[in-house]
Amino acid sequence: MRYLAVVRHLWSSHRLRPRLVAALVASLLIVLIGNAGATDGSRDSRWINARGVSTGTGGGQPVPVPLPSSGRSAASSGRPGAGPPRAWAAPAAPSTPPSPTGTPSASPSGLLARIPTFPPAPPAEKITLPPGPAAAWISRVPTSQKVAFITIDDGWTKQPDAIGLLQAAHVPVTLFLTTNAIRSDPGYFKQLEAAGAVIEAHTITHADLKGMSPSFQRHEICGSADQLGAIYGRRPVLFRPPFGDKDNTTLQVTHECGMKAAFFWKETVDKGVVRFQEGNAVQPGDILLMHFRPAFAEDFLAALQAIHDAGLTPALLEDYIP
Ligand SMILES: [Zn+2]
Repeated sequence: MRYLAVVRHLWSSHRLRPRLVAALVASLLIVLIGNAGATDGSRDSRWINARGVSTGTGGGQPVPVPLPSSGRSAASSGRPGAGPPRAWAAPAAPSTPPSPTGTPSASPSGLLARIPTFPPAPPAEKITLPPGPAAAWISRVPTSQKVAFITIDDGWTKQPDAIGLLQAAHVPVTLFLTTNAIRSDPGYFKQLEAAGAVIEAHTITHADLKGMSPSFQRHEICGSADQLGAIYGRRPVLFRPPFGDKDNTTLQVTHECGMKAAFFWKETVDKGVVRFQEGNAVQPGDILLMHFRPAFAEDFLAALQAIHDAGLTPALLEDYIP
């Protein structure tokens, strides 16, 4: 009440009234700027927190920011047996520091400088697939060769820097593409194909196939292979069910649709953090899963670094499937 009395007194004074108005305007500005700063700050701290986890120096869990195409995959990585998040830019390895400020290692040249160097992949020794009317279900290629496999799913987000990164890395990758996701720009994936990617099938609509009728699954599985074959001139021979969810029908239909194997994974990569289904290092034959997401560069570099740290070399999945 005293405050109001003072205001009333100042207002009644013609000499002080302009100062009162100026003070009120200044207060209003301070409040507005303060709120805007708080909003940016919380956004920044969320980003820094997520990145902080990737350094291994920050505590806590990465902030879950569900993506429409990936929420279930992230949940899958949290299934029993999944390893804890592990940082690949550990404090002991300052040669690959993350860049909370976004520079300079997030610049195009900075990203390229963080690509590890690998020994050449050994000549691939093809595995044996079980005979029968169903596609094989594989999450680790049974091989003792010092190789691991990078797979990249979906395709809704098309980060331009992915093309230069893949070109510079000189490593093969397998893309499991959802045809509805790539339709807006099939040429983007053609550029990745030219840089060493092989395109495989991941349904038309990214539907969860488990428990669905054979005809529904046939439409999604065969349809996506047919469409990708028509767009890119090579019909896929491998398949990944959305969310890694499948049943016996899925594997039978995958086989009927002319594809040899369907894939789960041993590691997932999200926001620059590698998570393990088992253990805390990439094993020979492991299949790593990442997605076309806004953090493509960080995810791709983290996958490469995890494979490098394990003494392995990225190899092409298709070379191991007879
Ligand atoms: Zn997917």
